Amino acid sequence: MISLSSAQARILASVGPLRPVAIPLDDALGCVTSVPLTAEEAVPPFANTAMDGFAVRASDTAGAPVRLRVVGTLPAGLDPAGLFVGEGEAIRIMTGAPIPDGADAVVMVELTSTEGDDVVVSESVPVGNHLRSAGEDLSPGQEVFPAFTVLGPGHLGVLASLGYRKVPVFSRARVGVLSTGDELVDDGSPLRAGQIRDSNRHTLLALLREAGCEAVDLGIVRDDETSVRKAIEEGLAATDALVTTGGVSMGDFDEVKKVLTDLAGDLAWMQVAIKPAKPLAFGMVGEKPVFGLPGNPASSMVSFELFARPALRQMMGYPSPRRSPVRAVVDDGLPRRPDGKLHLVRVASSFGDDGRLHVRSSGGQGSNLLRSMALANALALVPDGDGVPVGGEVDVLVLA
Ligand code: AMP
Ligand code: MG
Repeated sequence: MISLSSAQARILASVGPLRPVAIPLDDALGCVTSVPLTAEEAVPPFANTAMDGFAVRASDTAGAPVRLRVVGTLPAGLDPAGLFVGEGEAIRIMTGAPIPDGADAVVMVELTSTEGDDVVVSESVPVGNHLRSAGEDLSPGQEVFPAFTVLGPGHLGVLASLGYRKVPVFSRARVGVLSTGDELVDDGSPLRAGQIRDSNRHTLLALLREAGCEAVDLGIVRDDETSVRKAIEEGLAATDALVTTGGVSMGDFDEVKKVLTDLAGDLAWMQVAIKPAKPLAFGMVGEKPVFGLPGNPASSMVSFELFARPALRQMMGYPSPRRSPVRAVVDDGLPRRPDGKLHLVRVASSFGDDGRLHVRSSGGQGSNLLRSMALANALALVPDGDGVPVGGEVDVLVLA
């Protein structure tokens, strides 16, 4: 058996970044910039008012209260050319409208009252009052985001404000999902003796989408070497990576293990000192990784989380592709017996009144028990030993 960290390190060392592409701005959420992005425009593009009110000369307000003559109105979006604030004058102005020539401050409407064609300003204001200068947020030539920035909603907004229509990012990983097993059905028909329904493919397709990948459903393949080999080869031809489930343990019909060893070399199968998800087949077929995850439903999810997700995110340019563990308080005790493995215990986590993260088991921990996985939002990393008592501390990977 090898340790979790060495298995992860081996996998991460094998995969490199996918091709850089330019994709439409609105498709780029969760993608990672492949080059530094610079501003070619100023944001805001012109000096404008942060408040509804009156554009004035600050010096005119010195002896407030003062009466100024209103010589125009400036809504947002209007070209201010031709408008001018002279001595003793004011222009009615709306948030976002450009500051007219002559004015150097804005008095907010709350500090004014209108009297006929005049406005009475009740307080004096300094030069620059409520003024947003051109380029206050971004100026032309400035680096906005460096390469390897993970794009969130705010980033997309900034890029939109600069006029970006397409964004240079590393390609999303296009990942095929293949279930293996003679027992699997997925057509809604009544189960015959010995059959079960394929759940893994659906969880994995969803996990991939959640990880920011493009998920491709490659269906179910039967447990014979020729079919598995054909499915993997054909699947890889249309994708950047494959995730398969089943067929990687010690059974007589564990064909994925054999095929991957054949396609990717003899280091393709490993046993990792973790529970669940001990067996793992991993191989690079050419430049493309294949993750042969175990078939038990909870194992396949844990294995995806620990091995496939970090590697796929590294391919998509993520600078820190693994989740960072956080410390949590154990509310109900996580007992276990020494077995030389790191246990990944399905837990429900939430913040307590003490401001700390608390966890409790989300149910049965058998590798076949999927409901407790659905109810968990974190995996507690319980080291080899006797477990963690009530009130003890444990590292957890928060999955949400
Ligand atoms: P295997 O790794 O192929 O030996 O499968 C281990 C266990 O997981 C067996 O009980 C399988 O029936 C079950 N299993 C394998 N693939 C799936 C799947 N796609 N969905 C649900 N259970 C599965
Ligand atoms: Mg099987």
